[in-house]
Formats: sequence, structure tokens, C-alpha cells
Amino acid sequence: MTPDALLALDRRHIWHPFTQAQTAPPPLPVTNARGAVLTLADGREVIDLISSWWVTLHGHAEPAISRAIAEQAAKLEQVIFADFTHEPAIRLAARLTGLLPEGLTRVFYSDDGSTAVEVALKIAWQSWRNRGQPQRTHFLAFEGGYHGDTLGAMSAGQGSGFYQPFRELLYPVTLLPFPETWIGDPEAETKETASLAALDRWLEEHGAETAALILEPLVQGAGGMRMCRPEFLRALAQRLNSAGTLLIFDEVMTGFGRTGTLFACQRAGVTPDIICLSKGLTGGFLPLSATVCREGIYETFLAGSFDRAFAHGHSFTANPLGCAAALASMDLLNTPECAARRAAIEAHHQAWLTSLSGHPRLTRPRGFGTIAAVDLAGGETGYTATVAPLLKRAFLERGLLIRPLGPVIYLLPPYCVSPEQLTLAYRAIEDITAA
Ligand SMILES: *Cc1c(COP(=O)(O)O)cnc(C)c1O
Repeated sequence: MTPDALLALDRRHIWHPFTQAQTAPPPLPVTNARGAVLTLADGREVIDLISSWWVTLHGHAEPAISRAIAEQAAKLEQVIFADFTHEPAIRLAARLTGLLPEGLTRVFYSDDGSTAVEVALKIAWQSWRNRGQPQRTHFLAFEGGYHGDTLGAMSAGQGSGFYQPFRELLYPVTLLPFPETWIGDPEAETKETASLAALDRWLEEHGAETAALILEPLVQGAGGMRMCRPEFLRALAQRLNSAGTLLIFDEVMTGFGRTGTLFACQRAGVTPDIICLSKGLTGGFLPLSATVCREGIYETFLAGSFDRAFAHGHSFTANPLGCAAALASMDLLNTPECAARRAAIEAHHQAWLTSLSGHPRLTRPRGFGTIAAVDLAGGETGYTATVAPLLKRAFLERGLLIRPLGPVIYLLPPYCVSPEQLTLAYRAIEDITAA
């Protein structure tokens, strides 16, 4: 089919995500991808600097992962995961729990980041009922936090500001101020103190009714690549621990090396009670997620009767193809070459971010690991800032996939990205925003 015929059919039948179809330019048909480069139907090449919505880890069409999927597909493509089990799921669970901080031992599989979060919230809620503390029903989260687009995850992510049409449909969640900080920010500690004080006040009055706090550790993604310091997470974890409240880390985006360490919780030196993993889990090949919790939480679900069990499951729970992809991705992730590539990206990012100190328009430079972000100052703020689509188009005209969150310009490349490709991106950001 010609690109024009394809686009005509797309326009007639497809409803694209997070898109105002009436004003958005037509989508770009992609025919192939390799490494960090997408090839469009018209032959143009685009460097993917956002890992295709934060999922691509090693590179597009990574041969080792596509081979692992093909081999698995020829053996066992899918099987019901209640009453049955299979080697890819078992090996992956053992692998994940081996890489995560000690204590996180029990893996519940689902399909994507949103369901990983739903599972975490439901496990937290029911574990308190099962423990004879059914009054612990309240959830805490952060302003600017994002946890996915299903109803429970939306409720937890009310602080992202994306859910205006659904407000009445969401359950109440208490939002704490997020101590967003950046390189050279003199206010970091003041913001952390204020945030911890708000938490203290809440726990003092409502600690015994609080089931859990959920947050994205170190980096709030969709909320605008807002970053906090590891010290803050340690102080937070201490307080929740004293109050006996569960701590849920949503590492759907920060997992698998994004923030430098394998998981952000390791960089922060904090072990949560429950962790949500998805996006990079399969290297970006297939939808799969894992919610991993402490053994003590799992044990509260054990009883002689079904009513204490976790009555939750999805048709494709622990899909063998996804698990095989994840195992192959984990093999690559654990190589010294991959660690060196991630360290190199971090070094390039940090050098660039530091060079922006005092820049008149690119403010609040910040970064962790392979993530770098700046704010374009002096215009509208928020996700719907009209500058975002203009920037996006200008980047595309230079062959770069960079998709600002409102006035927040960020890079989150696959780990195969080259120093030259990064330099193209840095220069483009400086040039385009200077105009
Ligand atoms: C993307 C994201 C989700 C939702 O994941 P989906 O796979 O899009 O459902 C949840 N939490 C965080 C932190 C995310 O970045």
C-alpha cells in the first residue's frame, strides 16, 4: 500500500492515543527501525531520542531479543497462567528478584504499566484487610505524579493534571508537594523539608488509615521530568516505615537502567514494599509488566479459603513471548558494554546540562542516568503549552524525535544512541529554542 493510501485508512479507522485528531498533523508511517533510527515510509530517517514513549532499551529491532521471541513463539506462544506455569515466567521472576533489592521476592505479572500499578494498589489495599486492618483505605501520592490511564492508576496520578473530564470518577487521594529540584538549585533542601512536614502532618492524623504511598522515585516522568534528590526518598521511606504504611515505587519508567543504577530505588538506597515495572522490561518489544512485593505481603494472602486470595488476573498474564523477550533484554542489560554505554550517556548529558548553567531560556537543567531535561522559560507552562507542538515539528524537520511535555524538553534515548546523535540533539535544542 502506498503511504497516502495507508494514511487515508488510518484517518478513517484509527483513534490515536493522547491526540487531538482535529488539529494534530497526520501520523508518520514507520516501516522499519534499527538501533536509534526509525525509517519512515517516504524514506526519511528519524533519530528516536525518547525510546518510543520510554520503552526501547537497547535499540529498535535488537537482534538478540527478536531471535528470543521467534524461538519462544515456535515452542509456546501463550498458556493460561492459573493452574499452569512455564519456564520463561519462572526464570524471569527469579532473575528480577535477583536484581532487585533484597526483600522483594514475589512477582505478579500483568500487561503494562497501568495494570502493574492497579495490581500494586489492590495488593496494598487487600493486604491490610487480610491483616485485620480494613480501616487502612487511604492512598497518598505526589503532586505531578503519573501512574497510568486506567481508573485506579488515574486516581493515584491525579497530581499529573491529565484527568479533568474524569474527576468525579476518581477515588480521593491525598497529594503531597513534590520537592522538584535541578542542578544548582539552592532551594532543594527547603522544598524537601516542606514536603516531609506535609507528610508528617498527614501521618500524625491519618497514619492508621493510610494503606500506602505511591510515587515515581527520583523522576516524575509524564508530569514533566521533575526530579528529586535521593536523600528525600530516604527520609520519606523512614517516616513511612515508622508509621507502618506501605511504600509503592512506580518504576515503570525509571526501571532497567534509566536513572543510572538498574533501578532508581538502588540509586536512592531505599527498598520499597512493592515495586511496579514495565516499559523497558522486554527491552521495548512486547507489553509486559511485573509488580514485585515483599514476602510478608504475599503471606497475608495465604489462607485456607479463596476469600483471602488475590482475585486478579489478565488473559495474557505472564505471556511467554514477553517473558522470553525480557530474559534476552536482561542478558544485554547485564553486560559491561551496556553499563559503559549508559555511563557514557550520563556523562554526555551531565556535561551538556552543566554547560546550560545561566542559560537565559533553557532553565532548570536536570538529569539522572540516561534522562536529561530542561524547561523552556518565558512562555506558557503545563502539558498543553502551545509551544510543544511547534518544538516537536521543528525537531522532526531536523530528523529528531523529541517530544516536549509542554515547555519541558527532555531526552531519554535508547542505550545504543551514539555521542554524535546526542550532540545533534543538544545542538538542535539550543538552536531551535534560540529562534
Ligand atoms: C507510562 C507510565 C505508566 C503507565 O504505563 P502504560 O504502559 O502506559 O500503561 C505508569 N507509571 C509510570 C511512571 C509511567 O511512566
